[in-house]
Amino acid sequence: METKFRQAGLLPPEKLGGYLQPYEHDWHGKTDAANVVGFLPGTDPVLRGEVVIVSAHHDHLGRNTGSGCPDGRHGDRIHPGANDNASGSAAMLELAFALSSRANELKRTVLFLSVDGEECGCTGAKHYVYEDPVFALEDTVYVLNIDQIGEDAWLEKHRKPRRVDHGADCEVDGEVFARRGIKAATLVGHNSHYHSPEDTVGHMDFPEAMKVVDRALELVWNAAQAPSDQAAVTRGEP
Ligand SMILES: [Zn+2]
Ligand SMILES: [Zn+2]
Repeated sequence: METKFRQAGLLPPEKLGGYLQPYEHDWHGKTDAANVVGFLPGTDPVLRGEVVIVSAHHDHLGRNTGSGCPDGRHGDRIHPGANDNASGSAAMLELAFALSSRANELKRTVLFLSVDGEECGCTGAKHYVYEDPVFALEDTVYVLNIDQIGEDAWLEKHRKPRRVDHGADCEVDGEVFARRGIKAATLVGHNSHYHSPEDTVGHMDFPEAMKVVDRALELVWNAAQAPSDQAAVTRGEP
């Protein structure tokens, strides 16, 4: 992922000293984990201070025995996770390359966040939001999360909570941002082989996935270019 971020021309955040945002998550024992973070700086003198995030999780289940976060009790079958979430990671990279080629037109800053630990309770998104936001959350105007678009997908807008707080549980990374009052949505789809060793590339519908990538690009482009404040970003969303 780091190599791809570099190839796409994304910048590593200065405060991280590179693309990696390492952290330790605690799931049946402490394990090293890392988000991968890169950005395209906005060019508008005012709006470049605002940030649009594109996120997707790069972790999956590994060789675990059950259906969930790898628990150290290794099973004998690899879970490839082609749909969950290589499809979302690939889509995020498509957006990185596409937006990078028009970087000099971007008004707002666009941050690409490849998160770890989604299968373990969104630990990577939580680390970013609660421990180490690379850009201030107050300046983050929109988050588009992408998770499983290999069969079809729709846009799920996350409801903002009445009270902004930690929120212990999480089913999808976008929620973690929404719970802090940030406008967030997830492009998510069916997965006929959800959390199974059969989640393989042979079950992917690539033409459909490409349509979703186009939709994602439109959403992020509009969020990055909408004329003024956060309200305008909201109105600019198709
Ligand atoms: Zn997923
Ligand atoms: Zn999953």
